[in-house]
Amino acid sequence: MRTQVAIVGAGPAGLTLAHLLHLEGIDSVVLEARSREYVEQRVRAGVLEQGTVDLLSAMGVAERLHREGIVHHGIELRFDRRGYRIPLTDLTGRSITIYGQQEVVRDLIAARLDTERPLLFEVEDVSVHDVASDRPAVRFRYEGAAQELECDVIAGCDGFHGVCRDSIPAGVLTTYSREYPFGWLGILAAVAPSSDELIYASHERGFALHSLRSPDLSRLYLQCAPDEDLADWPDERIWEELHMRFELDGWALHEGPVLEKGVTGMRSFVVEPMQYGRLYLAGDAAHIVPPTGAKGLNLAVADVRVLAGGLVEWYATGDTALLETYSATCLKRAWRAEHFSYFMTHMLHRLDGDPFDAKLQRAQLEYVCSSEAAATSLAENYVGPAYVG
Ligand SMILES: Cc1cc2nc3c(=O)[nH]c(=O)nc-3n(C[C@H](O)[C@H](O)[C@H](O)COP(=O)(O)OP(=O)(O)OC[C@H]3O[C@@H](n4cnc5c(N)ncnc54)[C@H](O)[C@@H]3O)c2cc1C
Repeated sequence: MRTQVAIVGAGPAGLTLAHLLHLEGIDSVVLEARSREYVEQRVRAGVLEQGTVDLLSAMGVAERLHREGIVHHGIELRFDRRGYRIPLTDLTGRSITIYGQQEVVRDLIAARLDTERPLLFEVEDVSVHDVASDRPAVRFRYEGAAQELECDVIAGCDGFHGVCRDSIPAGVLTTYSREYPFGWLGILAAVAPSSDELIYASHERGFALHSLRSPDLSRLYLQCAPDEDLADWPDERIWEELHMRFELDGWALHEGPVLEKGVTGMRSFVVEPMQYGRLYLAGDAAHIVPPTGAKGLNLAVADVRVLAGGLVEWYATGDTALLETYSATCLKRAWRAEHFSYFMTHMLHRLDGDPFDAKLQRAQLEYVCSSEAAATSLAENYVGPAYVG
């Protein structure tokens, strides 16, 4: 097999890249380890920056997003049993859209299949080769047979646990990481959201987030231990804890059947550079953010937008300038998102440190809720940068 760009991973990064390249007439093969059903049902992120929505719209894959996505113009910060609204749109002119990651993936898979370009699910034993040469290749097994895919470039869009990053020789990458001493216990509940906007609650019992996926589906999270045992959390205990953390006079949390439950650890992680030879890393393969800032999916899309631009220019003119700056361009944005996610995480979670830390945290929360300058900074980061051009 031969293609121009071999894309490993059919998450938001890989699928968006495949479609951006298709629109410019560039051929690619997408290789995905999981089944189509699995990736279309994997519940993860749900907050799309306006730039992400604008890009998906320009790509012609946002028809359902515009029909079913819910546009939000603010978020609430809740602490001391009081709520403060951060009016995102008033402060920045931009908004966010609530639309599940699995819906984005579903739309992109449908668009890919329409193009009749290859998207192979359930590939096994993927490995990348000769990336330091100008004839890189990907080897894998598909439907029981060994395959070799020759290409010009490999896009490593295979997430945090993928194989592409680890195939880069030792000593090339520098890793920066931070583990947090807590995780999120998340539920998806079949109940109408209790609020029109997301609520970030900072409580002495720990952080809680009220989010949603649709008018009938609420997504709720509780700060917990990173290795929290779900067996200790029957549904009644989860609801009881959520009621306590969101407590506010005149406001009630709606309960409903719990459809899904899981614990996610939280970490910050970045590798530099995001490229080695003809292998380009994008999305979670290169960087992870704690979900408090809602940036993971948006960063993945932002990376491949830059990568697609570089590849289009290279194929059209032979000029490698944009590809050479791929890593630096993406890392600049990734580090801003890393900082914002770290900032939100520290401002809102219960830190079992000394009381001095708790006082600093409270001072920051009060500042953000009382100063328009501080609120604008939060809002600007939350909605994400506007794309130019
Ligand atoms: C449990 C969980 C909850 C999250 N919640 C949020 C949230 O609330 N808000 C937020 O902003 N972000 C959240 N994130 C982060 C967000 O979902 C990711 O940042 C986003 O999925 C990144 O997209 P990606 O395409 O880079 O990687 P992924 O979505 O991970 O896609 C990588 C793809 O590569 C495939 N793959 C892996 N290895 C191989 C291989 N060897 N060969 C072929 N294919 C392979 C995987 O199956 C997967 O389909 C969450 C992440 C997780 C894990």
